Amino acid sequence: MFIVYYWRTFTATVPGSVMRPVVCEKCSTEFHYELVRAGTGAGAALYGLGQKSAKARAEKAARKNLAKRLSRDVEMVPCPKCRWVNAAAIKAFRKQCYTVWTKIAVFTLFVAAVVGVIVLLTDIYGLNGLGKPRGFANPVLWYVLLSGVAVALIALMIRHALRWRIDPNRLVNGQPVVPPGTPPALVQQQTNDGHTIVVPVASVEVDLERGANWAVFRPGQLHFDAMCCVCLGASERWYVAPLRMAKTPLNVPICKACQWQITKRFLLRVAAGLLLAFLAAYVVSRLIARETRPDAAQFWIMTGFFTFFVVLVIAVTLIQLAPPYRVRMVDRARSIWKIKFKNPVYTAIMIRKIGQADGAFQAQR
Ligand SMILES: [Zn+2]
Ligand SMILES: [Zn+2]
Repeated sequence: MFIVYYWRTFTATVPGSVMRPVVCEKCSTEFHYELVRAGTGAGAALYGLGQKSAKARAEKAARKNLAKRLSRDVEMVPCPKCRWVNAAAIKAFRKQCYTVWTKIAVFTLFVAAVVGVIVLLTDIYGLNGLGKPRGFANPVLWYVLLSGVAVALIALMIRHALRWRIDPNRLVNGQPVVPPGTPPALVQQQTNDGHTIVVPVASVEVDLERGANWAVFRPGQLHFDAMCCVCLGASERWYVAPLRMAKTPLNVPICKACQWQITKRFLLRVAAGLLLAFLAAYVVSRLIARETRPDAAQFWIMTGFFTFFVVLVIAVTLIQLAPPYRVRMVDRARSIWKIKFKNPVYTAIMIRKIGQADGAFQAQR
């Protein structure tokens, strides 16, 4: 069977931010925080037709999505002075969370309604085997509708219970617990020479000693010095996938020697994979040949065909393992990501750097 892709989908991501003013309801301290979000959008086009407008549609959708997020979303930023999180912020934040349960509830009601209509119709057209329609007196109809409503209610109860668990004002070790990636509170301070400066006060505690091995970041927070992320020496370039076989999702600094090391390791592994793939393909082809008795040319075509597919799988896997870092999404709705480097020292450097920009590690400095 052939699958032909007629469509090409373009996606766009547009980051942006707004400043949000906050007045603490406990101690009336005034502060700001920067709400950062990335809007996403998609546009599809037939191959060779309207690709440009599809790209523009994706961009436009991403901007619209960004504007919606920036106007509606909140972050639970604790007061820089008394560490309280305003009730309104918690309420609004809870509404952002666990929306999948709302979708499940709506979907369940929709399915129950559709099945209900089908039951009603089969009844009316006399397919129930009773000879006369029962209409709304049909108990099956009510079983379907009521069980749909029951499942929807359970979904909403689960959503409520999960949201209720979010409460940063239940302190742990005297500190509010806010989600990873929560921005710092920004407070204005007077310097000795009369200038006003903005100082970040950390919302999240970062403890490097206690196994923080991922660096959590918001859009626009990753800045790299010219330091190789593998050997920590001077870097001359950005990392690229071996033989440029894959797009790199993120530009990280690397030195020429380490880049070559990664490419070399990749090539050696592919060579080893090729050998194993060939051996496996040969054995499988032999087994098949016992039944089908092909001639020599057909046998080797079959072996080559199997080898090709196994090597493809091996190469794709190796490409994914090659980068000197891993990136994972932490919270899609809040555009929070995390990164971990193969060299843990470099990860620690990034955690410290991001933490310092967010006002953490003040005591150690
Ligand atoms: Zn306060
Ligand atoms: Zn290096």
